Amino acid sequence: MALRFYNTLTERVEDFSPLQGPTVRMYTCGPTVYNYVHIGNLRTFTFQDILRRWLRYRGYQLDHVMNLTDVDDRIIQLSVAAGKTIAEYTEVYAQAFLDDCTALRLERPEHIVKATDHITDMAQFIRRLTEKGFTYERDGSIYFSIAKFPAYGRLSHSDFSGIKAGARVDVDRYDKDDARDFALWKAPKPGEPFWDCGVGPGRPGWHIECAVMATKYLGGTIDIHTGGVDLVFPHHENEIAEAEALTGQPFVRYWLHAEHLLLADEKMSKSLGNTFTLREMTARGYHPDAIRYLLSSVPYRKKLNFTFDALDAAANAIERLRNYKLRLDTAKFPAGVNAALDQRAAQAVAAFETALDDDLNTAEALGAVFEFVRETNTAMDAGEFLAGNVASAKDVLVRFDKVFDVLEPRLEAGALSDDAIQSLIDERNAARKARNFARADQIRGELLEKGIILEDTKDGVRWKRK
Ligand code: AMP
Ligand code: ZN
Repeated sequence: MALRFYNTLTERVEDFSPLQGPTVRMYTCGPTVYNYVHIGNLRTFTFQDILRRWLRYRGYQLDHVMNLTDVDDRIIQLSVAAGKTIAEYTEVYAQAFLDDCTALRLERPEHIVKATDHITDMAQFIRRLTEKGFTYERDGSIYFSIAKFPAYGRLSHSDFSGIKAGARVDVDRYDKDDARDFALWKAPKPGEPFWDCGVGPGRPGWHIECAVMATKYLGGTIDIHTGGVDLVFPHHENEIAEAEALTGQPFVRYWLHAEHLLLADEKMSKSLGNTFTLREMTARGYHPDAIRYLLSSVPYRKKLNFTFDALDAAANAIERLRNYKLRLDTAKFPAGVNAALDQRAAQAVAAFETALDDDLNTAEALGAVFEFVRETNTAMDAGEFLAGNVASAKDVLVRFDKVFDVLEPRLEAGALSDDAIQSLIDERNAARKARNFARADQIRGELLEKGIILEDTKDGVRWKRK
């Protein structure tokens, strides 16, 4: 079966293929960098990482753009209040976001672009919309006239035919079900920073950013556009109106939206004040790998109710897989190949791939891997898993890790390298041989302090990172 995704635009699961050759042109709405992102935001960005990785696994290349919204109402208010320029205020949070992505092993999109680097592009885009008759001006602000774009509402499947022509919304936060003409360009309030590039002094509205940067870097029609479900209306609806009004081409072929992360059944959001940042989680002793695993383990179109129990379970799941890998790497298995087990590995790979092809069903993909691990662990205990089966079992793990990427512990700053660990283990072995048990214990303790656990097995000393 082909790779397929649920498309918000058509409300159907559709076979996927890019418009041009092997390259998928994809756009992702990035964060508004007025504060640290929370793990709800990071759920959506983790979904995008799994999507990227799965597209590449299936042989596609990516041309992926993500924006950073570094100008909007809140940023202007907060930076003015802090006595900083917009750039000074936002750069801390932009960097923190990129650091969080690195900690979660999220691949970098090919282009990360800032709204403030594209203000003249936006002004030009607005001018062209004006030339085509889609805009009007009021008190120095420029609005998009929804009445001029009859397809409005197609993405959110809402009927906006009864909208009051000329009713306007000025802020970047919207009522969910109220369609009004939205600001493309906003006149500055007294004391606010502004740009002046041919459409009067002011600053861009939020929606115009994404329409401009998506079409600038990816062309008039792009393959995939992603974001969280809260962006369907009005943000993405407005992006479509702007882009299609200008180009006359369908803007996006596949719209993919991630469901929310919830805390106690409520959407995690800054406005509700029920958020955790990644920093808060790591300060509590949770590892980013466990968070990555938890965020990716629930299929992206299902709500994910965050609990600390689920996070502990995620950490345990990683531990089980790392132990399994360690067993494959270090145990001595009897010679030969058990053909049935090699076949079982091929089946596991097929089930894993089928699940991810099916609109990224990560839960089922993980299920296939864990079933295989359970069965082969049992076969190892029974002496039925043979040395010749190691390669196919490792192949299952390699494929798993191309997408989920949690198997190999990452060295943290100041952590010991593999070589340094091995030489300490060698020293400990020598100390034990010399019956210097105090020194041997001391080395074990030192390693433990650095998060390295030693296990004395019949095949020698094994080690792993905590
Ligand atoms: P924002 O910075 O508010 O524009 O959000 C950045 C991204 O995070 C957007 O794609 C949002 O849809 C998404 N998002 C916000 N809250 C959540 C949540 N609780 N769960 C999942 N995604 C979210
Ligand atoms: Zn956007």
